[in-house]
Amino acid sequence: MSATLESNMAEVSKLKLEGRAYIDGAYVEAKSGQTFSCISPCTGQSVAEIASCDEHDVDAAVRAARRSFEAGVWSGLAPRDRKKVLVKLAELIRQHNDELAMLETLDMGKPLNDSRNVDMPAVANCFAWFGEVIDKLYDEMAPVGPANIAMINREPVGVVGAVVPWNFPLLMAAWKLAPALAAGNSVVLKPAEQSPLTALRLAELAAEAGLPKGVLNVVPGLGEKAGKAIGLHPDIDCVGFTGSTEVGKLFMQYSGQSNLKRVWLECGGKSPVIVLGDCHDLDAAARSAAFGIFFNQGEVCNAGSRLLLHKSIKEPFLEKLQGWAKKLQPGDPFDPKCRMGAIVDKNQMNRVLGYIEKGQEQGAKLIQGGQQVRKESGGYFVEPTIFDGVRNDMIIAQEEIFGPVLSVLTFDEVDEAVKIANDTHYGLAAAVWTKDINLAHKTSRALRAGVVWVNCFDEGDMSTPFGGYKQSGSGRDKSIHALDKYVDLKMTWVKLY
Ligand code: NAD
Repeated sequence: MSATLESNMAEVSKLKLEGRAYIDGAYVEAKSGQTFSCISPCTGQSVAEIASCDEHDVDAAVRAARRSFEAGVWSGLAPRDRKKVLVKLAELIRQHNDELAMLETLDMGKPLNDSRNVDMPAVANCFAWFGEVIDKLYDEMAPVGPANIAMINREPVGVVGAVVPWNFPLLMAAWKLAPALAAGNSVVLKPAEQSPLTALRLAELAAEAGLPKGVLNVVPGLGEKAGKAIGLHPDIDCVGFTGSTEVGKLFMQYSGQSNLKRVWLECGGKSPVIVLGDCHDLDAAARSAAFGIFFNQGEVCNAGSRLLLHKSIKEPFLEKLQGWAKKLQPGDPFDPKCRMGAIVDKNQMNRVLGYIEKGQEQGAKLIQGGQQVRKESGGYFVEPTIFDGVRNDMIIAQEEIFGPVLSVLTFDEVDEAVKIANDTHYGLAAAVWTKDINLAHKTSRALRAGVVWVNCFDEGDMSTPFGGYKQSGSGRDKSIHALDKYVDLKMTWVKLY
C-alpha cells in the first residue's frame, strides 16, 4: 500500500526523538542542564528539547575523542577493518532509511519524498563509498635515488571538529564524517541548532555498526556556544565546516586565536546558470533551472539563483520557467505529493521575504510568487519566486538568499555572460547550456567556480569533488580529494648504508 499523508503522520507520531548529546559512547544531558526547543518548520510547533551544549560539553567530547584516538581503537585499525564498520553503518542507514527521513523532514521541513529518496540514500552511499575506498589507497615513495628511501605516508590528523548546516543536515554531516572516520580520525560533530535529530540518531547507529566509543561524539548546541567552542578548542586538530561565508570567516579567526587548527570551509554561493542562444532543448533547460533554484526550497549552497538568459530565448524560456514555478507550490512536507516544503525556521523565512522586498525596492520586476503561503499550518512556507529585470549589482543578485528566489538577467554576448557570472565574491558552482561543445569548454574554463555543469545542473557522484573558489570556501567534500583534508603527510627519510 502506498503511503499517504495520514499514514506518514502516523509513522511520525511513533518516532523516538533523542535530544541529548552523544559523548563517549552514551547519551548525556548538557552539563549546564540547559536545553533549547526543536521547532518543526512544518507546523511551527516544538517537537523535542535538545541539549544546549557549551564549551564544557565540547571539552568532554574532545577529551573522549582524544582518548579514543590515542588508544588506537579506531586510528590503529587496519583500513579493511575500518571499512567493515563504515560499510555496516551504510547498511544500517539503509535499514533505517524511513525513520531517518522522517526525522529530517520533521526537523527542517524538506519534502519527505526528498529525505527518503535523495538525502538518506546519499548518506548511506557516502559512508559505503569512503569505507570502500580506504583499503584501496597506497602511500608514496619519492624518487630520491638508490642511497635513500623517502616514504610519504598519510596519517590521520587526530581529532576533527565537524560543524554543519541545516539544509541537508545528515548529508552534510556524512560528507565530513565519512572521510574523516575512514582516514582514522576521531570526531566531534556539531549539527545546526535547527536540525540536530538525525545526527543524534546516527551516533547510535554508528555504535551499533561497531564504531568504538569516543570515536564519534555529537554535541548539539547554538553556534555561538558549541560551534565557537569547537573553533577555539586547543586540542582539536582540524575543523571541517559547512555553512555561511560569514561564519566560515569566524572559524579562521578562531583558529588564529587558538592552536592554528586547519580549517576547511564549504560556504555559500550565488551560482549562475547561463543559457546561450543555441541551447538545444529549452524545455530541459527551463525544467533544470526551476529545480536548480526551487529544489529543497532554494536552501541549497549551489542553488542556481542567478539565471543568465540570452536575449533571443528569454521570452519562451521565462514562460516555461513560470509554468514550473506554478507546479512547484509548497505543500505539507509529509504529503507524498509534496515537491516543495517549508523554510527551515521563522528567521530564515523572514530573511527570504526581506530579500523579496529589497528586490522590489531596487526596481527588479516580481513576475512570480513572492508571498508566504500555508500560514494556517503554523509552518513557514514561501512561494517559488522569480524576479525579471535584475541587474547584477542589485542586492538580490549579489547576496545569498538561501530561499526559493530566482534573479533573471539577460545578455547579448557570451563574454558578457561570463563577466556577469564571475562578478560575485562567491565561486561555488555554475552551469552553461549550449550545443557548441567548444564554447561549452571555453566558457567552463572562464568561469571562476569549483563546479561547472554543462547542459545539466546539480549532477554529481561520490567520485567527484564538490567545493568552491573564492569566498565559497577551500578544500573539497566528496571524492578521494576529501580525504586530503583529514590526513597529515609524513615524510620519512631513510639513509641506507
Ligand atoms: P551558518 O553559517 O549560520 O551555520 C552553520 C553552522 O555553524 C551551524 O552548525 C551553526 O550552529 C554554526 N555557527 C553559527 N554561528 C556560529 C558561530 N558564531 N561560531 C561557530 N559556529 C557557528 O549556516 P546555516 O544557516 O546553517 O546554513 C546555510 C549556509 O550554509 C549557506 O550559506 C549555504 O550556502 C551554506 N552551505 C554550503 C555548502 C557547501 O558545500 N558549500 C553546503 C550546504 C550549505
